[in-house]
Amino acid sequence: MQRRKLIKYSLGSALTSSAFSQAAYGQEINSNLNSKTAAPPSLKSARVIVIGGGYGGATASKYLSLFSNQQIQVTLIEPEAEFISCPLSNLVIGGSKHINYITKSYALLQKNRGTRIIKDWVSSIDPTGRKVKTASGQVLPYDELILSPGVELMYSSVGGLLEAKRQGRIVQAWGGTGNETQHLRRQLEALHDGEVFAITVPELPYRCPPGPYERASQVAHYFKNFKPRSKVIVLDANQDITSKGPLFKKFWRENYPNHLEYRPEHKVVEVDARTNTLKFEIQDDLQAGLLNVLPAMRAGAIAVQTGLSNVNKRWCEVNFLNFESTVAPHIHVLGDSIQAGPYMPKSAHMANAHAKIAAAAIVAKLSELEVNSQPFLTNTCYSFVDPEQAIYIASVHQYDSVEKTFKILPNAGGISAEASKQEGTFAYGWAKNIWADCLS
Ligand SMILES: Cc1cc2nc3c(=O)[nH]c(=O)nc-3n(C[C@H](O)[C@H](O)[C@H](O)COP(=O)(O)OP(=O)(O)OC[C@H]3O[C@@H](n4cnc5c(N)ncnc54)[C@H](O)[C@@H]3O)c2cc1C
Repeated sequence: MQRRKLIKYSLGSALTSSAFSQAAYGQEINSNLNSKTAAPPSLKSARVIVIGGGYGGATASKYLSLFSNQQIQVTLIEPEAEFISCPLSNLVIGGSKHINYITKSYALLQKNRGTRIIKDWVSSIDPTGRKVKTASGQVLPYDELILSPGVELMYSSVGGLLEAKRQGRIVQAWGGTGNETQHLRRQLEALHDGEVFAITVPELPYRCPPGPYERASQVAHYFKNFKPRSKVIVLDANQDITSKGPLFKKFWRENYPNHLEYRPEHKVVEVDARTNTLKFEIQDDLQAGLLNVLPAMRAGAIAVQTGLSNVNKRWCEVNFLNFESTVAPHIHVLGDSIQAGPYMPKSAHMANAHAKIAAAAIVAKLSELEVNSQPFLTNTCYSFVDPEQAIYIASVHQYDSVEKTFKILPNAGGISAEASKQEGTFAYGWAKNIWADCLS
């Protein structure tokens, strides 16, 4: 085995912001992967397939290339021609940003990193034969597989929702293509002044805990300026706001007293799209001009179908040192699909951080080197409360080798004192940095 010499590789430097600098972290990877030393044959001939070109998958494909000096053959399979960001998509719904602002190209991954990108949908995975099959009929073998398919929305958890969605009456705009984001924006524009926009929040865990409250804030801002007699009602299945609660509530109280109403412990069980009525487990029905019903979520369909969702048949348990599935060797699951550790939100920032640990571990394994036994994760999550002001929460998570999970590092994170334009500027900076980090 080649001589091992460890270097500090600061992954945090790619994502600078006031919040992130508090949470900067380093990770050790092996300098044997530097260009001066010959790569072991296993690394040179390795085929790694990445399924899903979202925050987890795009980052993983880049860092596999970077850490292996482009010696691994990386293939990214993604059906969408362009990357459309969920972060900042609520600003498109609120009308202050255009969809083009959050639409990015995959071209630099190909150009700068040599990633082979296949525009296709993976229809099945054979974990024993180590190959994937795509919707167009291609069969592709792999040595290691990375799976970052996001979440699947469980429409059947709310009666009538699937039908309403098929008719285009209720959309979620919670990932997938950008079409739903634009559709929801058009629905809002078509609302008459005085009509209510009702958004429902599922019980945790779900993708992006503060996302529904950010969306409510953006729509309330739009109503305040363009439909002053309309209001947003947030119907939350949880006992309280699930992230940055006091900050959201303070801003709403001071800025949207007539345009936003929050109701906790409202679990929606059925919708009647014909009359735009929500039915709850306990409370009275509610009728609104426009419904945005967010159902329960689980790991992306391909992960569930492959039998990887071994936690409540919803989430995929992984070994946090390399994000390998605990039921299928050589398959590494990232991002929203995993069963997370304590206080690890389903966020773009987290998916990006998972990807770097998994990529480093795969490169180390293929190079017959030791996998880092003490990885760190960070999370920074900004939420816009109007088009310019934002609030944030940040945390650092350290691997605990006894409990084999990530634990929050005390006194290493932070939260906004209050909403500000300065945090809004940092939030736009965060988005630009993470897009560059994932996609170039
Ligand atoms: C409204 C909203 C606002 C948000 N705001 C923030 C924020 O401010 N900050 C933050 O950190 N996070 C935010 N998030 C959360 C963030 O978007 C997710 O946590 C992140 O996208 C998760 O990354 P992922 O790789 O797991 O999934 P995704 O980014 O969704 O990527 C999954 C990809 O897999 C592809 N795919 C799925 N199945 C297959 C298949 N069978 N074959 C091939 N490809 C497949 C999909 O097309 C998709 O491109 C927000 C989410 C929403 C909905």
